[in-house]
Amino acid sequence: MKSNKRKCLYCNDILKGRSDKKFCSPDCKSAYHNQRTNIQEDYIKAINKQLRKNRSALKKACPWGKATVRKEFLKQMGMDFKHLTHTWRTENNNLYFFCYDYGYMQIDDPKKVLIIQKQDYMDNHTKTG
Ligand SMILES: [Zn+2]
Repeated sequence: MKSNKRKCLYCNDILKGRSDKKFCSPDCKSAYHNQRTNIQEDYIKAINKQLRKNRSALKKACPWGKATVRKEFLKQMGMDFKHLTHTWRTENNNLYFFCYDYGYMQIDDPKKVLIIQKQDYMDNHTKTG
């Protein structure tokens, strides 16, 4: 049997009145939306934190603009390869995965990546062919 007693989405009180009501009070409505916003904000913050961690791992592994390093080494420094800010494809069709101003590319050795620091020309790079 389906109950027709609807409950406030925030405090679970039984709702009375209009059938499209979702909250027992304006307070519950705003509390619910704040809570949702906080959950979303927390998620965004966690990703941002990871991105900064990735960036700092890449930077430490690549202090001179370009370096080949073991992925394991990056992981040990807190790198999480899932989280990236953008990609960049070179003329030679190499695909770099960036975290802000540091990026890496998979090289032939599956255990290693090539890290590069962003250069100004990459901003204007558009591939038309
Ligand atoms: Zn309520």
